[in-house]
Parts: sequence; structure tokens; C-alpha cells
Amino acid sequence: MTATTDKNTKTDEIAANSEKNDFIRAIVRDDLASQKYSQIVTRFPPEPNGYLHLGHVKSICLNFGLAKEFAGLCNLRFDDTNPDAEDQEFVDNIKDDVKWLGFDWAGEARYASSYFAQLYDWAVKLIKQGDAYVDLQSPEDIRENRGNFGQAGKNSPYRDASVEENLQRFDDMKLGKYGNGEAVLRAKIDMASPNMNMRDPILYRVMRQAHHQTGDDWCIYPMYDYAHPLSDAIEGITHSICTLEFEDHRPFYDWVVDKVGFDKEPHQYEFARLNVNHILTSKRKLKKLVEDELVSGWDDPRMPTIAGMRRRGYTPEGLRDFCDRVGVSKSDGVVDFGLLEFSIRNSLEHVNRAMAVLSPLKVTITNFDEAVANVETLKKDSVKTRLDNGVLWLTQPKSSHDDSQGMRDIPFTKEIYIDKGDFEITPPEGYKRLSPQNPEIRLRNSYVLKIEEHITDENGEVVGLTATIDPKTLGNNPEGRKVKGVIHWVSASLGVPAKVRLYEQLFTQEDPAKIDINNLAAEINPNSLREVDAIVEPSLSQVNAGERFQFEREGFFVADSKDYSPEHLVFNRIVTLKDSFKP
Ligand code: ATP
Ligand code: MG
Repeated sequence: MTATTDKNTKTDEIAANSEKNDFIRAIVRDDLASQKYSQIVTRFPPEPNGYLHLGHVKSICLNFGLAKEFAGLCNLRFDDTNPDAEDQEFVDNIKDDVKWLGFDWAGEARYASSYFAQLYDWAVKLIKQGDAYVDLQSPEDIRENRGNFGQAGKNSPYRDASVEENLQRFDDMKLGKYGNGEAVLRAKIDMASPNMNMRDPILYRVMRQAHHQTGDDWCIYPMYDYAHPLSDAIEGITHSICTLEFEDHRPFYDWVVDKVGFDKEPHQYEFARLNVNHILTSKRKLKKLVEDELVSGWDDPRMPTIAGMRRRGYTPEGLRDFCDRVGVSKSDGVVDFGLLEFSIRNSLEHVNRAMAVLSPLKVTITNFDEAVANVETLKKDSVKTRLDNGVLWLTQPKSSHDDSQGMRDIPFTKEIYIDKGDFEITPPEGYKRLSPQNPEIRLRNSYVLKIEEHITDENGEVVGLTATIDPKTLGNNPEGRKVKGVIHWVSASLGVPAKVRLYEQLFTQEDPAKIDINNLAAEINPNSLREVDAIVEPSLSQVNAGERFQFEREGFFVADSKDYSPEHLVFNRIVTLKDSFKP
């Protein structure tokens, strides 16, 4: 077998590895099959000026996902060309978030700023080639002379300065002889181009500002559109994938790469950005929410940041599944938030179960002592119990799917709490829970309960119930009748108080992108966070922060990673149990 066939077989295998199909994967398959590249190299290029959000998740899944599926490499590169808004805090969090999502970058994290010296040398090369010039017009004149869509721009009076003059001026820019806005380096392309991005775009500007990576080394900084293609070329990126709004920038991307000259040129491909209804994916506005303290921080569980979604209890598997379902396309659209919840819910199917009563109503079991007295002789073999000082401990598996998760002890006592919503004096039609007309129901993991009396306050609101249990129904069906329905409950004396945070959309608006940045406060959904005083089964006071559960009949919850402690229980609702959404 020759080396070539060997290689072919390998690339065929790699290409077959990916089951996903979209136009980018089609391009990658072709490029590998035709041996244009023996290995693909992609990159994820965040600007460290904020925390990553759901939109970035899509870009991460695509870039790192391609590298994984096609046995390639994906770099993490900080596009840190604007020291103004950038910060080390953001660098650290971005790394952490990418890892949490389940991806790892090739080698060390990279920085566009570590290429500054090289980028400067290439700018000098462009000047020498007659492809760049220093413009000393005021920023207003530069803007004015750019023209607009229907109107050609005007050449700058500095456009035809000699190479020597330009080299001198660019050197002076670097040496700090110009103040902010007094000089820029521009590409010399075409001031009449129908593509505004080709009207002598700016390559460098003066910015007297320290940089989080390079300190005070520079007072001129390259523009993103100049630094990005060259950083790609330096790193040997084969497929430089970005969102559709950069389509018009591609001719300049190609121009820069061509003028500087590389043996292997990177190529830019654009895909549709992720838009999800109700979800704000503008870093600027998310930052504003944090700065104005409209949320508790970047990791507020209502925030669509990765940090927020992590704290909310979303799983990396769920987020990756969501991105797979959304797919990659070339046409913009809006994805329903229900699809995200669908993926998250699917990923939580196997988490451990527990009981928590979010809206407690006390039930006194009048025959408790007699009923549990001879539990040992009446219980079914499969039910493990221990009667101790008026408490019947019921041992149940933590997981309904996975025995290795072990068991938990649930105390059953004379007084228990059930949820207020599980009893109605005058039930609506189709109501399947407790009422005077339907007084019997199964208590989850326990006996069949029968309501005897309800106690109301002066407003007619039910404030307590008395009931009996059928002593023969622990692990057994009741005799001679069918009891429909199962409800959850918690011991009143041994249950533990917990704060439970229930979330709704931060914005009820379909398209929060339309909200003016100065009007965010007024548009926040007042019900986006509701905190209730719940009573939970005692096993929940010995869990780890960040652990996820299905609270029976209530939804999926996570022990808050910041505020949960065994002394102070705090749970966040990740997602409700069911929804009508069908993908
Ligand atoms: P913003 O517009 O909020 O400032 P950004 O796109 O400028 O965000 P970057 O840090 O430059 O933020 O983004 C890093 C990468 O993530 C880029 O390649 C960008 O195209 C991609 N990205 C950002 N938002 C989305 C989105 N909604 N859908 C898909 N990819 C996105
Ligand atoms: Mg950007």
C-alpha cells in the first residue's frame, strides 16, 4: 500500500466519523478528501471583554466540534486588540467556560497580542509595498470622506505620501508622537469600492492605554480586521469560521492575507449566528445588566452567559445537544427557547430523585402511631423500614435508574407537609389530586393517605388537613379499591427548610435585542426570580453544591454553587418537568 492510499483511507475514515451534515462539514470533508489539507485547524477567537454567552456556545461547539470529529486541532485565541474594554478576569473565565463545556484547545491559549511585533513588521512591509499609508486627517474628516452606500468616498490628502514619509509617520505613531485620534495607518485599496470595508480600512490606531497582556509596550494597536486574518495565517488555521455579518469583511480578509503573502492561506467561512427568542446575546447589554446591578452578576442564573447557565444547573451535555439540534446554516433564523429546555431536560433524565414541598400544607395523620406500630409484619419485602422513636424511616434508592447511587433515608412522621396545590375544596374539572370528593391518594414511597377533615382560616383558605393512612398499603396496593394519583410529601418535624429559586425568562419580550440599552431595567420580567420557602427531605442537607436533582413532580433543581451550604439550603430550578415543546 502506498503512502497516498494510506492517507486517503485515513481521511475517509475521519470524514465518515462525523454523522453531522451541514455546509461547513461538507467543505471540510471535501478539503480532506481532495487532500487540500491533511489536517484541519480551526480556532475560537473570543474578545476578552465580557463573559461568554449562549451565542458563543454555538461557535465553540462548531469550532471545537469540527476539530474533534475530523481529528484536527482547534486553538483558543484571545482577540485582544482593544485594551479599552478587556480584562484578565474575562480571559480566565472564558478558559474555564470552554473547559466546562467539554472542550480543550490545542497547546497553550493564544493571544493576538503576542503577535503584535509581527503584525507591526507586516504593516511596515505593506507601507513599503505601497499598500498602506498614514492618514493624519481628523476622525471626523475620515468618516466624512468615506462616503456612503450610494456615494464614493474621497481620497485622503495623505494618501499619496511617499513610502519614506509613511515609514517615518508610522514610526512616530509607534513612538507616541501622536495622540489618540491624531493618526491612523490605512490600507490603500479603493475609496470608491461598493464594499465600504474596502475603502482604505484602518489597520492601526493610536491608543494610549495599557494592555492586560503587553502592559505599556504599545501605544498603537492593530484593528480586529487586520489582526484577525494574520493571526489565522500565523497559526496555520485552515477554516476560519465566523458569523454572517463578517461576509462583507471577507474581501478585506483575503486582501490582507494576499498582500502579506503566505504559502498556506487561511479561508473565512460564515454561518448564521444563533438567535434564541427571549435570550439577549449582546455582550454590551449583558455587561450593562451587571454594571447597573439589575442582576446579581455575570453568573446570575437568569443570565444567558455560560457562567449563569452553569449556576442555573444547565449541563454541558444539554448545551451541546442543543447546538447539534440547531445545526449550522447560512440563513438567519430564531430558535425557540423551548428547544433549549428540551435538550437540558433530556440531559437530566438520570439525575437522582428527592422530595421537596414548595408550598407547604400541614397534614396530621391521626392514626399514625397505631398504623406504623406493626409495620414489620405488614410491609412488602422490598420496602426497607426502621421504626425509631415515633419516626418511620423509609429507605429508598437515590436514583430510579442507577443502583450505584446508593440509598437515602426518608423520615415519615405523624405530621407531614404536602403541597397546597394538591388539595382543593372545590376542584376544577379533571382535577386528579385530593379533594373532599376524592379523599384518597398514594404518598410517594409510602402509604395511601385518606383526608378526613380540612381546616380553614377566616378567609376560607385551607391551612391544615387531618388524615389517616391505610396501614396495609406500604408497598402494597389497597384492597378492594383503586387509588389514583401519587403526591410527594416531606416530614414536618424532620424536613429541612430551604430557599428555592424559581426562574422565568429575564425578558418577556420575544426579541430582547430590540430593547434599548438604557431601558433594560424597565423591561426586566418582575417574575424572572421568585424565591419560595420550601421544606425538603433531610437527605438534601448533605449534598454537594452544584449537585442536580429531580424534585418529584416539581422539576429539576440544582444546589446553588454559591449559596448552598448544609446549614443554609438553596436550590435553583433548572427547568420544569414537562413542556408541550416538540422539536
Ligand atoms: P457581541 O456581539 O455580543 O459583542 P462578539 O461576537 O463580538 O459578541 P466575540 O468575543 O468576538 O464576541 O465572539 C467570539 C466568537 O463567537 C466569534 O467568532 C463570533 O462570531 C462568535 N459568536 C458571537 N455571538 C454569536 C452567536 N450569537 N452565534 C454564533 N456565534 C457567535
Ligand atoms: Mg467580535
